[in-house]
Amino acid sequence: MKIFHVHTFRCHHAEPVPDEAYILKAAELGAEEIWFTDHAPFPGDPFGARMSIDTLPEYLSTLSDLKRKHPEIAVHIGLETEYFPHFDNCGYYDHLRSLPELEFLLLGQHMAQTGDSPPAYSFSESPEYLAKNEFRLLGNAIVQGAESGYFDAIAHPDRIFRRCVTHWNEDMAEVSQSIINAAVSAGIPLEMNLSSARVPAYYRREFWQLLPDNADTIM
Ligand SMILES: [Zn+2]
Ligand SMILES: [Zn+2]
Repeated sequence: MKIFHVHTFRCHHAEPVPDEAYILKAAELGAEEIWFTDHAPFPGDPFGARMSIDTLPEYLSTLSDLKRKHPEIAVHIGLETEYFPHFDNCGYYDHLRSLPELEFLLLGQHMAQTGDSPPAYSFSESPEYLAKNEFRLLGNAIVQGAESGYFDAIAHPDRIFRRCVTHWNEDMAEVSQSIINAAVSAGIPLEMNLSSARVPAYYRREFWQLLPDNADTIM
């Protein structure tokens, strides 16, 4: 067993427990590997619910120390982050990929960039607008992210439909297909997120039914 997609206290939506507690629990459960993917910061800390940019060196060094301290389980160090063209242009993803401790970048597209100078983001749009358009904005950003080559896996792709109260339709199928095609072309897996499966709006069986045999998944 491998434990994947673990957040820490640094992004403010995990329990306030030390990183080592996750490692000890994973080892106790018999896991061979644990993959930390806390929410990546961005320069200037423009977004909430993620570690601050100043915390990143501590995250990497703490987990590197724990990796050495616990050879009984393989501790892997990753980050979950959105793809934003603005931060790509600034070289931020290149910077992240150059960090020697960082092994894994998980593409978790919780919002999308919607404008350039200054950059604007989908969370500024109205709920009515997002109900109609968010899945397409997020889906397009996931495709761009997959094509960028920076990412090793795509987190919870079906969560882009969280605001779609309608029945599954052709537009949703088309966006799903473009994400699946991008993942297959990039050779990266799509994450079937088990905590999403507990929230009806976050988990779309119809998305997963579109998956061809040559698509990789991770749970
Ligand atoms: Zn996550
Ligand atoms: Zn996420």
